[in-house]
This record gives sequence, C-alpha cells and structure tokens, in this order.
Amino acid sequence: MTSLSPHQKAKALKPGSRRPAKELCSECGLCDTYYIHYVKEACAFINQQIGELEAQAHTRSRHLDNPDELYFGVHQDMIAARKQQPIEGAQWTGIVSSIAIEMLNRGLVEGVVCVQNTKEDRFQPMPIIARTPEEILAARVNKPTLSPNLSILEQVEQSGMKRLLVIGVGCQIQALRAVEKQLGLEKLYVLGTPCVDNVTRAGLQKFLETTSRSPETVVHYEFMQDFRVHFKHEDGSIETVPFFGLKTNQLKDVFAPSCMSCFDYVNSLADLVVGYMGAPFGWQWIVVRNDTGKEMLDLVKDQLDTQPVMSQGDRKEAVQQSIPAYDKAVTLPMWAAKLMGVVIERIGPKGLEYARFSIDSHFTRNYLYVKRNHPEKLEAHVPEYAKRIVGQYKLPD
Ligand code: FAD
Ligand code: SF4
Repeated sequence: MTSLSPHQKAKALKPGSRRPAKELCSECGLCDTYYIHYVKEACAFINQQIGELEAQAHTRSRHLDNPDELYFGVHQDMIAARKQQPIEGAQWTGIVSSIAIEMLNRGLVEGVVCVQNTKEDRFQPMPIIARTPEEILAARVNKPTLSPNLSILEQVEQSGMKRLLVIGVGCQIQALRAVEKQLGLEKLYVLGTPCVDNVTRAGLQKFLETTSRSPETVVHYEFMQDFRVHFKHEDGSIETVPFFGLKTNQLKDVFAPSCMSCFDYVNSLADLVVGYMGAPFGWQWIVVRNDTGKEMLDLVKDQLDTQPVMSQGDRKEAVQQSIPAYDKAVTLPMWAAKLMGVVIERIGPKGLEYARFSIDSHFTRNYLYVKRNHPEKLEAHVPEYAKRIVGQYKLPD
C-alpha cells in the first residue's frame, strides 16, 4: 500500500463553512481540497509573498527601480495583439482560449484548468479540467465572479496528469504557485489574466441591477479604456455607462473584501498574462514574463496582428482627484458624467498610461481599505512595489 503524503491526509472544508482568511477569502478553491493543508503559507490573503514567488517562478523578483517592472511585474516583453479571426463570444478576441487549444492540440499539456458556467446560470462559475478544444471553448468569456478554480486540484493529482495548463486570476495563481511542488507535475504552464473589482454572484446581481438598463439580458461586460462600462446584451446591442456616473454610493460594498485588499492586479506570477488595459481600444495587452510564457505566445503568433505597446498622457492629476471622490462616494449627474467621460477620453491617459491610471486608482483605494479595516495586516500584506506606487499620492486618513 502506498503511503499518503501529508496533504492527502488533510480534509477539505465543507462548502459554505468559514475559510481561514475569513471575510478576506476570495474563494480561490484551495480550501475545497486537501491542499488546505498548506493554507497558512499559500493563501494570498494570509501570507503575501509575491516577491519570493516571483523568484521561484521567474528566477528573480521584479526590479523595483525599473518603472515598467514596478507597475507590471517581471517581464521580458509586452505587446498589443488581437486575433485576426476573433473567437465568437470570447471576452475580447479569444487569445486565451486560442493558446489553450493550441497547447492541447500539440500535446504540450494533457489538461487545461479553466472555468465554464453552470447550465442554470450564465455567470455562475464551474471550474473544470478541459481535455478537448470544445471544453476549452465552452469556458471562453469572463465569469465576472469569484471562482474556485483551484477546487479541481485534487482531481489533477488523482488523474495522474503530468503536464497541465492553468488559466486563472492573481489570487488563484498565488496559491497555486505556493503548492506547485506538491502537485506531482512534470510541467505546469500558467496563463493569467489581470483581475480587479471582482464580486460574489449576489454582488454581481446588485451591480447589474444598479447600473444596466436590462440586467437580465447582459451576457458580457468590461470596464473599458474609454472610461465607460460596456454591457453587451443577448441581442448583440451594446450599452455604455460612464465610470463617473456609476452609483458609487450603492456600489461601495459590492466588491468582495478580498478584491478591496488585493495588490496583484497584473497577475505577477503567471508565465504569460493576457488582458486589455495596456493596449489601444479593441486590442489585447500581453505581458510575457519568462521563457515559458514566450513558448506559449509563440504557438499563436501566426494567428495574431500585433503592434508595440504605447503610452500617452499623464494620469497623476486624475488619480489624485479620484481618491477623495471615491472616498466620499460622489456620483455625478448623468449629463456631467458623460461630459467628463468625453473630455477625459480625448485628453486622458492611453495605452500603458491608462493601465497605470487603473493600477494607481485601485491600489490607493485598496490601501485605504486595508488601513481602515485590517490595520494589523497593512505592513506585511501590502507588497513593497504597491507601497511605492501608493506613496506617490496624498491620501485621506
Ligand atoms: P477568452 O478566450 O474569452 O477566455 C477567458 C478565460 O478566462 C477562460 O479560459 C476562462 O477559463 C477564464 N475565466 C473566466 N472567468 C474567470 C474567473 N472568474 N476566474 C478565473 N478565470 C476566469 N483585464 C484587464 O486588462 N484589466 C482588468 O481590469 C481586468 N479585469 C478582469 C476581471 C475578471 C474577473 C476577469 C476574469 C478578467 C479580467 N481581465 C482584465 C482580463 C480580460 O477581461 C480578459 O479575460 C482577457 O483579456 C482575455 O480575453 P480573451 O478574449 O483572450 O479570453
Ligand atoms: Fe482558502 Fe483560497 Fe479562501 Fe485563502 S482565498 S482562505 S486559500 S479558499
């Protein structure tokens, strides 16, 4: 009889029971498995260790004195790209799904951890290990809710798989990297997306109901570089709502406490990151962190149009002004919000400067949240790069 490893003797927590990170839990899924054995070390909200894990994943931690690395993490390349033939129904042009399909088709991996939705609810996440291109395609498009992607980790070990691709957001990937060596894999590939302002399924409903004209027909939404939320409806129509017109007073509590305390917007520990915020409107933004990430991107390069990343404008004033405005939950009348949106779109930050605008606004807000709600965690939980970014601004008490 083979003996059990220490984690295999541990027991997953029951659904709905209180998690070790308490209200800060992002439901990453680790505690739904026997890997809960490692939670005190692995959980992104109990033990922030991005610098150490960067060194493990990319052979070094980010250079804090390099302005691009300070913001976007360890990388060897950044480009803007879009698929020549976009995947219908993907979040953007489907670069993430295309890379995953290519890796499976070429036999680089035996399975892909990704997240489909349940039959009953288009936004209820259902993590799976995909073994066919069809299963990967069925996972396309964001499920804009906390998703327990790591809940399938026991199945990975039990399946005997040796080569695996995991798609996920920052908090999931931090915990994954911390237990990577325990998974018994020969090769783990990590394809990340940036992530911010995520919500529980109930929180999502509240956001849709307070913001969209037709919450029940929304199939897709994104906070876009033109400073508007774009909702896509079932009939294909697009509804846009300016950021400055969001009902911040009603939405203040909608974001999950985990996401209000997160400083890993750019998914620092993935091999390759695919988002949009550092790219021109309509393009995706790609950050190649290491050689594994380059290998993954090279698989689809012939399916992509690409261009260098660009940066334009100056975010600092807009960020400084947004800090007290958010703090006091100011909502502008819709006509003024639309006007603001138009003005800021014309003269405002673009490309990498837009990404910095978004990072600065969220890090300052989150820093204040942790300082006020979990002051005992502030020092250890906020990474050094985030302290430097926040330190550029004047914050209220
Ligand atoms: P697709 O080919 O449509 O594939 C999407 C993939 O995302 C699927 O493989 C699926 O498994 C995975 N996925 C879906 N929902 C989740 C989830 N909840 N948790 C983990 N994995 C999931 N990019 C930015 O630049 N700035 C942002 O602020 C930003 N916020 C995001 C917030 C969330 C909650 C998510 C999930 C993504 C966010 N992104 C953000 C990434 C961006 O929206 C796109 O997902 C990314 O550009 C890939 O687009 P695509 O068309 O290539 O993806
Ligand atoms: Fe467990 Fe993940 Fe929640 Fe941390 S965030 S308590 S690791 S489920």
